[in-house]
Formats: sequence, C-alpha cells, structure tokens
Amino acid sequence: MDRYAGLITNDFANGTGTCVSFWVQGCPHHCPGCQNPETWDFNGGKELPTDIRGQIIKAICANGITRNFSILGGEPLCEENLDEVDKIITSVRTAFPHIKIFIWTGYFLEDLKKRHDKRIDRILS
Ligand code: SF4
Repeated sequence: MDRYAGLITNDFANGTGTCVSFWVQGCPHHCPGCQNPETWDFNGGKELPTDIRGQIIKAICANGITRNFSILGGEPLCEENLDEVDKIITSVRTAFPHIKIFIWTGYFLEDLKKRHDKRIDRILS
C-alpha cells in the first residue's frame, strides 16, 4: 500500500465516541450505491506518509484524550492493502490495548476466516 484516501483526527461519524479515522485507497468490490467510489482506484488518493503509524498513534492520544480508531475505505482487507493495515492495527493495539478498533470491509466474516491468513486472523483478534 503506498496510497491512502484520508485521515480525520477527530471523527464523530464513524465508530463510537471520538475516533481517529483512516481511509485506505483502493477497492476491488465496486458495490452498487457505494458512498466512496473515489476510493476504488488503487492509484488514486494521496501518497502514504512513511510515518503514518506514528501519526495515527499521536492523533489517538492528542490533547490528553484517548480516542477509538476506525479504518474505512476503500477495502482495508484486500491483498493490496492488507500488509499495511495489519501493521497499523498491530501498532495501534500495542500502544492502546483497551481502545475500540472498527474496520469496514466488503468481505463476509465467514470468508475472511476461511482464508487462513495470519494477517487477517491477527486483525480479527
Ligand atoms: S466495499 Fe465499501 S468501498 Fe468498496 S465498493 Fe463496497 S461499499 Fe464501496
């Protein structure tokens, strides 16, 4: 993953409470009625900063308030985005063991479990 669609550091619309929300770029599903079709193109969006994980962690606890974390898209769990999403979630979970982490995906949970992919299993856990 070298592109992303967006980052909001105080989001009240996605997830519960105040969240840091991160939108991945690229989605293979192309669902009818998608709210974010501009996130479908894997070459669209913006260049991913090399310190994105640090930026997210800093944002989650900015100003002495601990936020939850949401990952949206685009499709966070397709092969193109999976490595970086796994790293981001692992970093966030290590830094903040007790916050809620939300992820929006176009895959069915049963199909994700059937993949037997360590990254997916880690994210689901
Ligand atoms: S999975 Fe989400 S981002 Fe992808 S097309 Fe469907 S609704 Fe849109």
